[in-house]
Amino acid sequence: MANLILIISPSPDDVLALRQALGDASDGPFDVEDTGTLASGLRRVAEGGIDAILLDMSLPDSQGLASFEQVHVAARHTPIMTLCALDEEDDAREAVQRGAQGWLSKGYFDNNLVPQSLRNVIERMKVEQKLYALQARAQITLNSIADAVVSVDMHGRVDYLNIAAELMTGWTRDEAKGRQIAQVLVMVDGDGAGTVDNPVEAVLRDGQSEGLSGEVILVDRLGKLRRIEDSAAPIFDWDGQLVGAVMVFRDISDTVALTTKMKHLAQHDFLTNLPNRVLLNDRISQAIASARRSNTCPALLFLDLDKFKHINDSLGHAIGDWLLQAVAGRLLGCVRTSDTVSRHGGDEFVILLADERRAQDAALAAEKILIAISTPFLIDGQQLHTSTSIGISVFPLDGLDAAALIKNADTAMYHAKERGRNAYQFFCHDMNARAVERQLIESNLRLALERSEFVLHYQPKLDLESGAITGAEALLRWEQPEWGTVLPERFIHVAEECGLVIPIGRWVLREACAEAAHWRASGMAPVSIAVNVSAMEFRHRDFFEQALAIFDATGVDPACLQLELTESVLMRDVGASATLLAKLKAMGVQIAVDDFGTGYSSLSYLNQFPIDVLKIDQSFVRAIDGNVEGNGAIVSAVIGMGRSLGQRVIAEGIENAVQLAFLRLHGCGEGQGYFFSAPVDATRMRAMLRPDA
Ligand code: C2E
Ligand code: MG
Ligand code: MG
Repeated sequence: MANLILIISPSPDDVLALRQALGDASDGPFDVEDTGTLASGLRRVAEGGIDAILLDMSLPDSQGLASFEQVHVAARHTPIMTLCALDEEDDAREAVQRGAQGWLSKGYFDNNLVPQSLRNVIERMKVEQKLYALQARAQITLNSIADAVVSVDMHGRVDYLNIAAELMTGWTRDEAKGRQIAQVLVMVDGDGAGTVDNPVEAVLRDGQSEGLSGEVILVDRLGKLRRIEDSAAPIFDWDGQLVGAVMVFRDISDTVALTTKMKHLAQHDFLTNLPNRVLLNDRISQAIASARRSNTCPALLFLDLDKFKHINDSLGHAIGDWLLQAVAGRLLGCVRTSDTVSRHGGDEFVILLADERRAQDAALAAEKILIAISTPFLIDGQQLHTSTSIGISVFPLDGLDAAALIKNADTAMYHAKERGRNAYQFFCHDMNARAVERQLIESNLRLALERSEFVLHYQPKLDLESGAITGAEALLRWEQPEWGTVLPERFIHVAEECGLVIPIGRWVLREACAEAAHWRASGMAPVSIAVNVSAMEFRHRDFFEQALAIFDATGVDPACLQLELTESVLMRDVGASATLLAKLKAMGVQIAVDDFGTGYSSLSYLNQFPIDVLKIDQSFVRAIDGNVEGNGAIVSAVIGMGRSLGQRVIAEGIENAVQLAFLRLHGCGEGQGYFFSAPVDATRMRAMLRPDA
């Protein structure tokens, strides 16, 4: 596109000469307009589209520099060349100082210098325009980024700061300009101790970029500290000469704080802020590593709050959470700062005692914790009671890594719970063997019923005066094909724990009732059969209906049946027990309290139950002929009590004549034990009961 040239000149000759010079130009056409006064020139400029202006310094309505000033103001980005006579050259020079692109001497327009000069100035202006755009873009970019940018000259003097740098240093660009970088950017190391050399200094020295370095703190003009991450690079001129450096840095205080927070969250329990499993595992591994060096025995305490679920369910989760936090606080008070109290989840806590020297130290800590946790908690003026059970494992005896130590402490904790809660228990390898056996028993027990591996044995009970058989206790035996006969103490509690005791108990009752019916039908002595009933069976909602169905199916007279229940089974829910016993009693079933004397039951409660028989526990009978003074006292007291309540008293586990004599002497009615007969199979029991036997 042709360039449009505006000539402002009152001289028709000059205009003509210029038009000719431009029109003849070999390298590209110019469009030319002309006007004779400043006023008309300014009007034309205002309309726009002019690429260059040729301005005569002497116009009818304006002279010299004043003309230039006005045109220059009106067309700031349009190149202007003045046209001057020889005596006007001083003004022309001054105009150049003020922004004119050059001048053409009047009388010399007819050479090709004119188009060439014009083209040059127009081109230069276009380049400047582009340059300006580039610079503006760079400027805007630098000011809109969050990173701070500072550049310095060869001597380390600041020559530029972007807005972010102004904000972070507290210096404005104008204030900072020309100052040494070290004065504007004060940097200290991460600990806030020593000052740090500005990376720009190294860049200016070596001419090489300096990579990011963290851990540096920038102190701004007001003394505020910011953790920054910075880098610096050299600036070279066209000739590859080092002329300065630029430094870029950013505030990473928030990033560092966030990273620290994330790391904390990943390793801590949200509710109590205690270390979680992840961090605990770490700490255990560390403790193990240093134990090998320092000859210590790190110990793990695995804690589980007793009956926490009950508190949570009855008082609500808010109170439950509060209690967990309070427990966490107390636990921290029981250990040293070098120990780790962690929350394992739910109401479980694991404590690492990092540098114990002796196992007793762990026991001391456990005792301290038991006391701390069983001290009532105060919430809203109310006392909240809880306790904890603790299992302890010690490195290296109980495990060589975190996983084994935690697992074994957990196992020990269960044993502590079984021992009656609010107790601690050291792990022993036996426990694992037991756990394995338990598993084995459970899986085999599941098959035992359908494979008909159960049988009942019977142990006769005798009248101690006449020696006549008064009844027999049905005792369960498991004929396991591989293991032989398994006694109930090895499997009954497993059956209870996994619920199998319900179908097994049903089978026992049915088998015993069928046997009793058989005795009656074949004319044997009309004696009763005693069946043991475990807690879970007795509590099962169908127990009574199932019993009725079995009586019906077997045709047994319920009066021939005695149910043996332990004190603890009866005491668990006194009201429900009394109701159920009354219903059974109404059917004619007899009720016996088994293992009497071991359950600490309240006699006043026992009085509320329709009990027919008290079975004195074997341990008291065994104690009769022991050497301890007063050993027989309990037995005689129980016999007396039973008599006064109108109950029959049976002594279990009679093994010798001394025991028998003592019992007889104190008026015990019946007895059972190896002295008379061990439990025998059904065939032998029937033989004992035959009238001619
Ligand atoms: P228990 O009801 O107290 O039964 C008496 C236990 O003492 C029986 O052990 C019996 O064999 C044993 N015994 C009898 N006379 C003597 C003696 O003179 N000396 C000694 N040392 N022991 C004697 P068993 O058969 O091993 O049964 C153990 C426990 O298992 C029973 O204690 C009972 O609580 C439970 N049990 C047995 N059968 C069943 C059953 O069918 N169902 C339920 N739920 N529990 C059962
Ligand atoms: Mg029994
Ligand atoms: Mg017993």
